[in-house]
Amino acid sequence: MVQKQFKAESKRLLEMMINSIYTHREIFLRELISNASDAIDKIYYKALTDDSLVFDQDNYYIKVVADKEDRTLKIIDSGIGMTEEELENNLGTIAKSGSLAFKNETELKDGYDIIGQFGVGFYSAFMVADTVTVISKPLGSDVAYKWESTGEEGYTIEQTQKDEVGTEVILKVKENSEDERFDEYLEEHRLQQIVKKYSDFIRYPIKMDVTTRKKKEGSDDEYEEVREEQVVNSMVPIWRKNKSELTDEDYENFYQEKRYGFDKPIKHVHISVDGMLRYNAILFIPETIPFDYYTKEYEKGLELYSNGVLIMDKCADLLPDYFSFVKGMVDSEDLSLNISREMLQHDRQLKQIAKNIKNKIKSELQRLLKNEREDYKKFYESFGRQLKFGVYSNFGSDKDVLQDLLMFYSSTEKQLVTLDEYVSRMSDDQKYIYYATGESYDRIEKLPQTELVADKGYEILYFTEDIDEFAIKVLMSYKDKEFKSVASGDLGIEADENDANTEAEAEEYKEIFDLMKETLAGKVKDVRVSKRLKNHPVCLASEGDVSIEMEKVIQAMPDNQHIKADKVLEINTGHDVFHSVKEAFENDKGKVKLYTNLLYNQACMIEGLPVEDPVEFSNNICKVMV
Ligand code: ADP
Ligand code: MG
Repeated sequence: MVQKQFKAESKRLLEMMINSIYTHREIFLRELISNASDAIDKIYYKALTDDSLVFDQDNYYIKVVADKEDRTLKIIDSGIGMTEEELENNLGTIAKSGSLAFKNETELKDGYDIIGQFGVGFYSAFMVADTVTVISKPLGSDVAYKWESTGEEGYTIEQTQKDEVGTEVILKVKENSEDERFDEYLEEHRLQQIVKKYSDFIRYPIKMDVTTRKKKEGSDDEYEEVREEQVVNSMVPIWRKNKSELTDEDYENFYQEKRYGFDKPIKHVHISVDGMLRYNAILFIPETIPFDYYTKEYEKGLELYSNGVLIMDKCADLLPDYFSFVKGMVDSEDLSLNISREMLQHDRQLKQIAKNIKNKIKSELQRLLKNEREDYKKFYESFGRQLKFGVYSNFGSDKDVLQDLLMFYSSTEKQLVTLDEYVSRMSDDQKYIYYATGESYDRIEKLPQTELVADKGYEILYFTEDIDEFAIKVLMSYKDKEFKSVASGDLGIEADENDANTEAEAEEYKEIFDLMKETLAGKVKDVRVSKRLKNHPVCLASEGDVSIEMEKVIQAMPDNQHIKADKVLEINTGHDVFHSVKEAFENDKGKVKLYTNLLYNQACMIEGLPVEDPVEFSNNICKVMV
């Protein structure tokens, strides 16, 4: 017999399991039972296409046997079994080993996280057992194999005897220690309780020998203890149960058992539709972002069941991209079991279900926003970006679904607000929905461009994410109110005496501005008198469809399109700095150029744009100082 080593990553995981101080140890049973159930499912599928195989429901079961004397706990199934090779591959390595590399050490310390995110089910046996033995006889074979491991040292595989096809997982339950009790995993009642809690809906009977007190035959008052085999689970899937029978905890357990996520979902939705279209669904809105959510590795989709049998892990057609964070399952009696992926896409029933689900998610989110704002905010912090992508990516075709779910930070409310709330607060003379873009709320708050709009008392929405402005451009307007950047050329603020002044000044300083413009040729389109600046000497504004913020985003893209905003340098003619410019214009034109360059670079920095030539910039400052 050869002792073999676990693959490096499996070993790490295993160590974690062995040494875990994990409080939900009991879930090892859920993991092993769900593996057993999967193994029976596999025979079930095979029988669908293989006529020589008949699936007789009565022959398939899972059995849990505890032996206190031996300290062993067995989980026996009549599933498809494993060949020698499969034992080696499936139990010697982690299936999704790649994803473990994603996590760093600190995250790895939290065993819960791991169990939730990766299929590490089998290893959880080591949380309660010193030795794990797996005896398996695969379907269609005469030989059986025994896999055994005491954990870190590795494992052995040898040939053995087993009558029935299927698998037996035997746990040698750890001895109690000073502060930990493992005996409970050998106690019938406790085991029954765990099965009920996590595996009640498993489609196959989970059997246990249970001791009950019964009246002795022919006697009225004498009792005897009888051992009988009982089916412990109700076998009714949670989605077929009545909502009123279920508690929040049931849904949470289901969420975790299904590994939809490792967090506590913010909301669950249980749908039962009966009529032309018949289906049950349980949907969850998670609270936290899956670690790979905003990467291309993330796969959206709901589990799809046909009459209680899982036919697809992630049916993508059931969810629009903008709701890709939703987890859960759909079960319909009307879908054919061996339907292929291609056929599914054209299935009318499925399309109808998808449409219903989309509407349901939308209305649930709206309800959450209306009634449980704090929860909605948590959700929005995680997935708001996805909603904005949704607005953007379909050229606004889904805006009716999404626009009322959007939130942005408000300059006046100092918190996230909806567009509807913004519009309801607009004063009669306010034409536009104003927004300002920048890296953070703090930085936007200090942007010179916001001065005039804020002075008017208008609310400004702060955009801090790349996607914000793109989404808004696609949306164009909300309730007939157009969006307007505080940095755009025309702010649409009512003309007052300022306007006449501005024109007169533009005339008066034309030559100065022409010289400044010449100095900045190729960098800005124009140099102008600013209407929006109050306290600050200078800012950059943009004309046309591409804003400065958008230019930054586009520049950062891998397939950089070299698209640039049409920039305008705006000068506060009331500022002392401009007086210096005027003086220079009279006495020393070279100084005007120097000042112009300085002002331009200052404006760039305020906007978060790079200074093109930092050395020149620094030299220029020195010139001014000397
Ligand atoms: P997962 O179930 O997510 O694939 P596990 O660690 O729980 O991950 O199991 C690893 C693999 O071992 C399974 O995918 C399956 O192929 C195999 N396996 C585990 N238990 C059994 C069993 N009782 N019968 C057949 N195969 C099993
Ligand atoms: Mg498993």
